[in-house]
Amino acid sequence: MAKIYYNDDADLSIIQNRSVAIIGYGSQGHAHALNLRDSGVDVRIGLAEGSKSRAKAEAHGLRVLTVAEAAKEADVIMILTPDQVQAKVFEESIKDNLNEGDAIFFAHGFNIRFGYIKAPEGVDVAMVAPKGPGHTVRREFEAGRAVPDLVAVEVDASGKALELALSYAKGIGGTRAGVIETTFTEETESDLFGEQAVLCGGMSHLVQQGFEVLTEAGYQPEIAYFEVLHELKLIVDLMVEGGIAKQRWSISDTAEYGDYVSGPRVADAHVKENMQAVLKDIQDGTFAERFMEDQSSGAKEFKELRSKEESHPIEETGRELRSLFAWEQTDEDYTEGTAA
Ligand code: NAD
Ligand code: MG
Ligand code: MG
Ligand code: MG
Ligand code: MG
Ligand code: MG
Repeated sequence: MAKIYYNDDADLSIIQNRSVAIIGYGSQGHAHALNLRDSGVDVRIGLAEGSKSRAKAEAHGLRVLTVAEAAKEADVIMILTPDQVQAKVFEESIKDNLNEGDAIFFAHGFNIRFGYIKAPEGVDVAMVAPKGPGHTVRREFEAGRAVPDLVAVEVDASGKALELALSYAKGIGGTRAGVIETTFTEETESDLFGEQAVLCGGMSHLVQQGFEVLTEAGYQPEIAYFEVLHELKLIVDLMVEGGIAKQRWSISDTAEYGDYVSGPRVADAHVKENMQAVLKDIQDGTFAERFMEDQSSGAKEFKELRSKEESHPIEETGRELRSLFAWEQTDEDYTEGTAA
């Protein structure tokens, strides 16, 4: 069973007695910085000179420095830039500003697990990774609740890295909900697998193929959209509340029977074998290498794939249909058709 830590297992004063730099002010960065500040922690933000995030952080009353200045001032440096730029930012602006006794923190283990970042001797390397989008991390904290975190220690130079990480987790709220202990390897590999095989990759392509099958068979795209995409949220909400079992309890007996007899025809043994192959590419570094090589040559493949996927007919149908509803848009940073 996983070890889970709560408020009583963490001492907030440890992080309150350190100086923290949050590098990057995006989804995770803003949530960590504002939650820590509200927990009485000394926080500064490190951003590139021309960064668009600067104005936002300053508007929230935070002190913004360059990455190098922030890393120099601080003794706990949480790196929350996109994964693909972390190694460059680390080499150029963080590494030489680390002293013995400092700590570098991450919210995802990618760069440590695959060896793109190597910490100097004497520096703690730990992870505090909220299991939710940054905007939810902030919203839940403000509501007095929290998103659970994962915590991991890769290098325990000080002998107190876990206490420090738990204190940080308390500062961002995580110990209110529970903080689960893991390793950089387990977090990185399982996170990549989950998003590729099921949550993002698997789900997006399952929906697209369902839409294609219906529309190619002559059904109206608007009807297909409702049946394979729109209703997903209702199903997923039930699964999150009470597992697959609650979802099956809530749907009609017709739908439940169809789940049992047709689900395994769609997600058959090949799907599981394909998932195992995806996991292998994650474990042996093939995926990481492909992603990082493409990123370092201008993200050519990434951008081509993004524009190909954005032009799938389900997006056009969805744009028209959603405009008929007065949806409450909750993510102010997202602009449809130009996903960040
Ligand atoms: P993001 O894209 O939302 O924000 C990145 C921030 O970094 C922005 O403020 C950007 O201006 C800044 N930035 C970009 N390039 C920079 C550079 N060269 N120098 C300095 N700053 C730079 O990122 P994110 O989604 O919050 O991801 C940050 C980390 O958190 C990643 O390791 C990611 O895997 C992890 N994570 C994210 C989520 C999430 O909710 N998005 C969830 C769990 C873990
Ligand atoms: Mg320092
Ligand atoms: Mg994840
Ligand atoms: Mg991820
Ligand atoms: Mg239906
Ligand atoms: Mg039922």
